Amino acid sequence: MVQADHIVKSFGSHEVLKDISVTVNRGEVACLIGPSGSGKSTFLRCINHLESINGGRLWVDGELMGYRQRGDKLYEMSPAEVSKQRADIGMVFQSFNLFPHMTVLENIIEAPTRVKGVKKADAVATAYELLDRVGLAQKAKAYPAHLSGGQQQRVAIARALAMSPKLMLFDEPTSALDPELVGEVLDVMKELANSGMTMIVVTHEIGFAREVGDSLFFMDEGVIVESGDPREVLANPKHERTQSFLSKVL
Ligand code: ATP
Ligand code: MG
Repeated sequence: MVQADHIVKSFGSHEVLKDISVTVNRGEVACLIGPSGSGKSTFLRCINHLESINGGRLWVDGELMGYRQRGDKLYEMSPAEVSKQRADIGMVFQSFNLFPHMTVLENIIEAPTRVKGVKKADAVATAYELLDRVGLAQKAKAYPAHLSGGQQQRVAIARALAMSPKLMLFDEPTSALDPELVGEVLDVMKELANSGMTMIVVTHEIGFAREVGDSLFFMDEGVIVESGDPREVLANPKHERTQSFLSKVL
């Protein structure tokens, strides 16, 4: 579902991603861990082309992201073409990013009706199904400010799912939550994983990675230092940098 080949990304002279190669198969959950500033968010943003890349290639579901190839040259796509590709990829951020002036229901139906041209009645029906799935059907008419952080994040997940994405990207979805609210968001993510969604999850929730992850990637200074089965990597990290990082978060 996701194939990243030799991705290089620089901001000015600062090379933030150095030759990153990652494959995530359909239906798999890949977890990405690593110290602050190691390039995790940048990598996620490259996947849906919120950031352009300076080298390498990235495919989602067989489609080259952000570029068209003619001969062996790559040409950057138009913003409209990129938006179309991005519409199939859901993203959930650390800070829930709901539209504050819209109700929960309005937040969820906004993109399907506007971007995909789904009829309002259909979008509303889907929204209620999704809210039910994240346990918040009774909050459809509430405004984000009246919800807890955990509830807001579950709405953000429902909103992303409303676009019927083929891939979900999570960037530290529970880091901004009070500890007692982390579990309810992880439960929704586990349910999503069990339903067969392909997911890439940047997280410090090592328990989630161990329990739900099909693969684990440890990134440091723009390099994948170590990767493999999460249970194996977490129990038996081979690289000194992985050991040192895990000793701080475990
Ligand atoms: P954290 O765990 O703190 O979220 P991260 O692993 O997600 O960290 P990134 O946000 O990807 O790290 O940042 C990697 C590096 O790229 C950092 O040094 C950061 O300062 C730099 N960086 C990120 N975005 C930009 C930008 N838009 N312009 C310049 N530098 C950037
Ligand atoms: Mg980050």
